[in-house]
Amino acid sequence: MRLLLVEDDQMIGEQLLDLLRAEGYAVDWVRDGEQADTALQAQDYDLLLLDLGLPRRDGMSVLRALRARKQRLPVLIATARDALAQRVEGLDAGADDYVLKPFELDELLARIRALLRRASGRAEPVYEHLGVSLNPATHEATVGGQPVTLSAREWAVLEPLLARPGLVLSRQQLEEKLYSWKDEVTSNAVEVYIHGLRKKLGPGLIQNVRGLGYMVPKQ
Ligand code: CA
Repeated sequence: MRLLLVEDDQMIGEQLLDLLRAEGYAVDWVRDGEQADTALQAQDYDLLLLDLGLPRRDGMSVLRALRARKQRLPVLIATARDALAQRVEGLDAGADDYVLKPFELDELLARIRALLRRASGRAEPVYEHLGVSLNPATHEATVGGQPVTLSAREWAVLEPLLARPGLVLSRQQLEEKLYSWKDEVTSNAVEVYIHGLRKKLGPGLIQNVRGLGYMVPKQ
């Protein structure tokens, strides 16, 4: 899953970047509202983590512009503990949830998982499909009830496919879930991870759709 992190504080931004990448998310980090607006129009993100007090353009304006463009990605706003009016305004402007600063990191991660879950049309916290289960909170995976170990990159390829059975994702779309701007992308990376996943999960779960990409069948 690919996230846009908008945070102007260097220390907080670095801390969040490390935390989110360690969880296996591809993360792009921008430090002001103008850059955030540009990034949101250039790239498809699965979630936006948005600080409100930003240089050049405030977060509330970025949020209103995003929703005016009918972009539907989940938005988690970060606000100060005493800023009740700002939280209400943010939620009414189209944010889906908020987190308080300073961050409780475990709570932040749980709220991100909850929003990603809802955005993929699920309520249940564990993916269970065709004998495979993935638990995003614990990073445990099983096949036919037996635990399997997936690398962070294999997980990053599998999760978006499993989140929407029947939906074809192109190689480029999967690369975008795997890498952020700064990463070097090798040309056959997605194929390599798909190959590894098929060895671990069986050949039938991830199907090639010729000329289009990959999908997990509905049943
Ligand atoms: Ca700020």
